[in-house]
Amino acid sequence: MTRERALEQEMVAVCQALYRRQLLAATDGNVSARSGNNLITTPSGANKGFIREADLITVDLDGRVLTGTGQPTTELLLHLEVYRTRPDAGAVIHAHPPIATAFTVAGVSLAEAVLPEVVLTLGAIPTAPYATTGTPAMAAAVRDLLPYYDAILLEQHGALTVGRDLWDAYNKMEKVEHAALTVWLARQLGQARTLPDAEVVKLTRLGIDKGYRPPLATES
Ligand SMILES: [Zn+2]
Repeated sequence: MTRERALEQEMVAVCQALYRRQLLAATDGNVSARSGNNLITTPSGANKGFIREADLITVDLDGRVLTGTGQPTTELLLHLEVYRTRPDAGAVIHAHPPIATAFTVAGVSLAEAVLPEVVLTLGAIPTAPYATTGTPAMAAAVRDLLPYYDAILLEQHGALTVGRDLWDAYNKMEKVEHAALTVWLARQLGQARTLPDAEVVKLTRLGIDKGYRPPLATES
């Protein structure tokens, strides 16, 4: 099996997992992965739960379609922005995890240091300002955060994760939604207590030492 074929199979499996886990619904969301000097992406308007390898589209890093019959994802500009900014990115997922997205709709930040595992692996989960979906403004909205964060919420819209490969990006999306669920439950029980500053510093250093954070984050 060629490497590209294996990547296509992996992308279908990741799309199905996102759908089963209800991290997106209907035709929401989009997934891409680096394949040599090009990208494989999901097509526009497809339900990710039922996508097939034949539906996937190959584009170059300028967004030109190389193979595939449909149109590439409408959020292609957002994906291209990630690959241009982050040479370490092997895969990108944009989904609509409902609880994490609800935080942005309610105007409640998920960036506070509440859960050690999130501080260790993601640093924080910041929210990028609102921008119209599918426009260059969406790519611009995440530009300043991308060098430092692998998981970013999109205000009143959804979430974006960057991974070294497809399953890494998937795991980060699942982690974002699980963190949101835990913080939401804690708030219902009374409060979501933040970790002490010294512990946040310790976890952040540990995360950088273990290589969990993006290359630029290690320079801060
Ligand atoms: Zn979206």
